[in-house]
Amino acid sequence: MDPRELLCDVMKTLHDRGLLNVKGGNASIRGKGNYMWITPSKEPKHRLCPDDIILMYFDGRYFGHSPPSIESKMHLYIYKTYSWVNAVVHAHSPLTTLVFDLGLDVNVSDFVESMVSMPCVGVVDRLPPGSDELARSVRDAVGKCPVVALRGHGVVSVSKDIYSALNAVEALEDLSKAILFKNTFRKLT
Ligand SMILES: [Zn+2]
Repeated sequence: MDPRELLCDVMKTLHDRGLLNVKGGNASIRGKGNYMWITPSKEPKHRLCPDDIILMYFDGRYFGHSPPSIESKMHLYIYKTYSWVNAVVHAHSPLTTLVFDLGLDVNVSDFVESMVSMPCVGVVDRLPPGSDELARSVRDAVGKCPVVALRGHGVVSVSKDIYSALNAVEALEDLSKAILFKNTFRKLT
């Protein structure tokens, strides 16, 4: 499947599942050379078409109708550092963000979906969206855990293929929902 079609499908899936707003989130796929395919910064993410996807070289040059995502540095740093990473997904998962902001315990082995989807979850402190600091912190964190929660912001997942990265984002959100229900139920009983 064309990587541009895959990116459109992934962004629509994230929006349909309530894991990003129409102007939020981004995703990319490594190309067969020194470049990546990445989502644009301005187009509504739930109805992207393949022509909207940006081709961006690792030296920063890009081609497309719109500028690339404001987090494009983060994607570039990750591909340049980790040769095994072929896809990056960044969502604004609301329950995942809440669980990490509340400082609740997150154990991926508590839930089969998360247990098979990720070995661990890293955490990055609050940093400005689109900043070099955030890009560098996420790049360092995914070297330890392929799924990283960004405090007050969302989640980044990296993998060999885009659907594994998407699956981990979904699994972490479902685990977060279970953690929140469990904590609420415990307080009520
Ligand atoms: Zn974001």
